[in-house]
Amino acid sequence: MHELQSQHHLIPAALEAVSTACAVSRAVQANLAQICEVTKDDRSPVTVADFAVQAIVSLSLADSLYPSDCLIVGEEDAAVLRTDEQGVVLQTVLEAVKSWRPQVTKEEVLDAIDACNHDGSSNAFWALDPIDGTKGFLRGQHYAIALGRIEEGEVVAGVMGCPNLSTDQSFPLDEVDPQGVMYAASRGAGAWEFADCNPTSSPMRIIAQQYEESRPIRFCESAEKGHSNRGDSGKIVDAIGTEGEPARLDSQCKYSLVARGQADGYLRLPTSKTYVEKIWDHAAGMCIAIEAGAVVSDVSGKPLEFTHGHRLENNRGVICAT
Ligand code: AMP
Ligand code: MG
Repeated sequence: MHELQSQHHLIPAALEAVSTACAVSRAVQANLAQICEVTKDDRSPVTVADFAVQAIVSLSLADSLYPSDCLIVGEEDAAVLRTDEQGVVLQTVLEAVKSWRPQVTKEEVLDAIDACNHDGSSNAFWALDPIDGTKGFLRGQHYAIALGRIEEGEVVAGVMGCPNLSTDQSFPLDEVDPQGVMYAASRGAGAWEFADCNPTSSPMRIIAQQYEESRPIRFCESAEKGHSNRGDSGKIVDAIGTEGEPARLDSQCKYSLVARGQADGYLRLPTSKTYVEKIWDHAAGMCIAIEAGAVVSDVSGKPLEFTHGHRLENNRGVICAT
């Protein structure tokens, strides 16, 4: 057994849950057009994937862990799915979950989604973003399934599936590699890469790049203009004198670019005074980057605080850098 699994006892269950969810989300993404047609709504594929993944992670963790180890702060709740208008969407979610677990019932799926309603107030819980980077998911590009473990206010482990990201760092970031990759980290045990989102493959340790004056600094940021201030990142890029524009992609895949040495920094600079970052958008990715040797703070250099429920109330923006 490799070093990672020997560290945090919940990592094997998290790897299993996330890899299963990767396979199902991939099938939903491959059927975007069909789902839009059936549900008469362009956004429903992401809805279907969000709910199906949250149900799968919830059910899969419950298969192998004690209930006390299964508290989850998940992004979704099933209230809308229980309404009559969403009958077709619910049926599509059910079919997606059945592709993994044929005997599952509607009620079990709804209850599994609603089981992820922890408020983040306990000593130990998971933060789950079932489909992080929903806009990327809908564009057929990058997204991530992100499961972070928070204990005593600290992120102690993280597993992140990136179903469209290549392990090959020369592969263009604006293209998708359906092999995908999964990352996992736990405190003190490093960050690890699993090719093909396969938890039984032999993982490779990843390490962030050391800064070298001799080469330009490479940044990455959101593909969505509204999620990070490009005017401000442009000023940073100009001040540092780096070449070209930051790499732009959706989801916490950006943390993994820094973690695996493909980028020197991930800038998430506030676009508004009122937006507060969510814990599920950072817990898993941040743990992976830190364990690979990077540092993570908010824009004023403060550590991210995971002690305020669902949101990073005391922080503004995020910077992850080597
Ligand atoms: P990204 O894929 O990096 O663009 O980030 C996707 C995440 O951005 C989503 O999961 C949202 O929770 C989050 N988000 C939504 N609005 C904002 C905003 N105004 N600023 C920063 N993040 C946002
Ligand atoms: Mg998200």
